[in-house]
Amino acid sequence: MAADAFTRELYQNIHRYFKDNNLSKLADRRMRIKVIASAVWWLGSLLLLFTLQLPLWGFAALYLFHTFSQIYIGLNIGHDANHYAIFKNKRLSKVLSYSFDLVGLNARMWRQLHDVEHHNVMNIQGEDENMEARGLLRYSIFRKWRPYYKFQHVYVYLLYMVFTTDWAFTKDFECYFFPYTKKMKQMKHSWKDYLSLFFWKSFYVSYMIVLPVMLLDLSFWTVFTLFLIGHAINGAFGASIIQTSHSVEGAEHPASRKDYDHHVYHIFATTTDYGVNSKFLFWFSGGLHLHVIHHLCPNVCHTHYPELTKIVKSTAEKYGVTYQENPTFLSAIRSHLSYLKHMGEEKNQLTLSQTA
Ligand SMILES: [Zn+2]
Repeated sequence: MAADAFTRELYQNIHRYFKDNNLSKLADRRMRIKVIASAVWWLGSLLLLFTLQLPLWGFAALYLFHTFSQIYIGLNIGHDANHYAIFKNKRLSKVLSYSFDLVGLNARMWRQLHDVEHHNVMNIQGEDENMEARGLLRYSIFRKWRPYYKFQHVYVYLLYMVFTTDWAFTKDFECYFFPYTKKMKQMKHSWKDYLSLFFWKSFYVSYMIVLPVMLLDLSFWTVFTLFLIGHAINGAFGASIIQTSHSVEGAEHPASRKDYDHHVYHIFATTTDYGVNSKFLFWFSGGLHLHVIHHLCPNVCHTHYPELTKIVKSTAEKYGVTYQENPTFLSAIRSHLSYLKHMGEEKNQLTLSQTA
């Protein structure tokens, strides 16, 4: 449907902000600091791991510190890079888009699942891959209820703790070899895509597991245990950042895109901000806590989001459009857990007439 007065004014106000302040929509100084800091963090900690002769506890601490740089890169650099929201320079953008592969995740498949799919079908069961969770979690009333969902708010964090390990080791391969969404099945892969998938996965396993075992006189189980602990932290942190913007109390989980007159209303209904003024989230969440503006302008660098969110709020207020937010990160997590509890209850099922 064509844009209405609200939608038009919202985008006009956003564009005017950049024009009036003579700013680029891409990386600013704060983003350049993030890019440099994450490169130093990733490379520096890795070099120290292999060059310092550390006792086991020192190695463990540094290994976990390095592993956390990977979720930082995924959220703060890789996400924007794969939305082409950082640099105008094509070569530099291409290099940064591989930051996902560098930390074990296939960037090309991410662009499919996230840019092409999620950004168009938020919270729609069967289309939004963010809600798949291998059928172990029920985020929408449109997923068939099963008895074990009664406990999903209890076991959810155990699943989130294997979120990134599963993604790196199985999900990416499954997407290539056993595609499970309609759009994924339509994808064509060249031999270069397969080569790139296997090359980057081997590279990741080499520097995280094989080389420490070979060069540092550590047992496989020591390194592998640390790997799983590091990924448990990354998975719990990453999932907390990602899932608290769409599956919380108040956010709608529609039957289809047709439920809304315009995509902008789909965004406002299904997306919730949290901790809007948090400095910690600004530096660590990749702007995903300011998720409404992310969906409105995915190609704008996330360091502009705090200023743009003020524009989103005031324009929505002027037109009486509901803008949803949770005051803090913790309140968003609490809301996510109580939403899951609600979705796990047996009484929250569609009746036959509603599904028809
Ligand atoms: Zn995105």
